[in-house]
Amino acid sequence: MAHGLERHAEPPMTLGKSLVACMVCRLVKLSEQFYQDGCENCTFLDMAQNRGRCEDCTTINFQGIITVINPASSWAAKWLHMGHSTPGCYALSVRGDLTQEIEDVLRENNRSRNTSNC
Ligand SMILES: [Zn+2]
Repeated sequence: MAHGLERHAEPPMTLGKSLVACMVCRLVKLSEQFYQDGCENCTFLDMAQNRGRCEDCTTINFQGIITVINPASSWAAKWLHMGHSTPGCYALSVRGDLTQEIEDVLRENNRSRNTSNC
């Protein structure tokens, strides 16, 4: 009995790979990619190979994704204040709070969070 229960749909495998956004520059990548390479715009955050730092600086709480191919000539990139950012995918808005430690790192590096939400 209960033969029908053996039939099921395979869950999408991509669910295991979560997209997250850097809370400082809003770059969107897989959390694994942040762990592997860190954030291209925020190298001073030392996210590469540092899980704790990745978790402190990235969030799944973001909305909308814009792909920026040529930040210097893109009106959208200028509008979002990311004219100097590395080409890639960016969240339109990111929610989440940085820890005091990360805020201190930003200050030490003379960087500020790109908080311009749309
Ligand atoms: Zn970043």
